[in-house]
Amino acid sequence: MLHGLARLLPTIESAGLDEAAVYERRTLYDRPRAPVPAGGLLRCPVCGRSASRFLPFGLGGRRNAQCPDCGSLERHRFLWLYLRERTDFFRRRLTVLHTAPEPCLEAPFRAQHGRGYVTLDRFNPHADVQADLTDLPFPDAAFDMVVSSHVLEHVPDDRAALREIARVLKPSGRAVLMFPFDPRRPTAEDAAMDTPAKRMAAYGHPYHYRIYGSDTPARLAACGLSAAVVATRDLLSGHRRRRHRVNTNHLFLARRTAAGGAP
Ligand SMILES: [Zn+2]
Repeated sequence: MLHGLARLLPTIESAGLDEAAVYERRTLYDRPRAPVPAGGLLRCPVCGRSASRFLPFGLGGRRNAQCPDCGSLERHRFLWLYLRERTDFFRRRLTVLHTAPEPCLEAPFRAQHGRGYVTLDRFNPHADVQADLTDLPFPDAAFDMVVSSHVLEHVPDDRAALREIARVLKPSGRAVLMFPFDPRRPTAEDAAMDTPAKRMAAYGHPYHYRIYGSDTPARLAACGLSAAVVATRDLLSGHRRRRHRVNTNHLFLARRTAAGGAP
């Protein structure tokens, strides 16, 4: 959760602020800066920074979570390492749709893919395209890759968003999807959680609509995406998880099925 969002929580809960009113605030994206000397056993793979410690992040102040230079969090470093080591993302120029682009990833992604790289966000005026994930302004089969990290849980009708992702993927395309995921239980989702305060209590975030669970592959399949789940420990040894400060996390590599993208 963004530091700015954590500070706003009392206001969100008392005033019931909607998501747009919150995410359009520029100060939301500010992050604390603290000088951290160069050198040390930790290494951020995104920007190459070495350090003896990273910055704390999140409501509980997770230790060694945020890179002091580029601002990457554990899940960003996992995504980066996955793209670098298991895909051709950094070896070819691709057409890429990046939803709600993380600042630490946007510049290097754009440098790699140039004009084929498109960012999309509902609220952020700096995104290349302002649009809703459930109604994408792109033709069918437009992208080699869709990168969507911690966005789908914010979308009330995420099945509509997943169908749109399938539609805009080329037949050979891939989507890398990340969201809060607990494989030990079914997806937690309840339409009665209809205020920021209730969602905070149920899902740990005022604008999350669910925590994805063990039925997620079936949920994706119903929307035209076949997916394989990758856990951090599938990709990285314990030594590398500690060195890059990557916690337990999952991503889904999804491909469009024959039915995906069909009208
Ligand atoms: Zn970094």
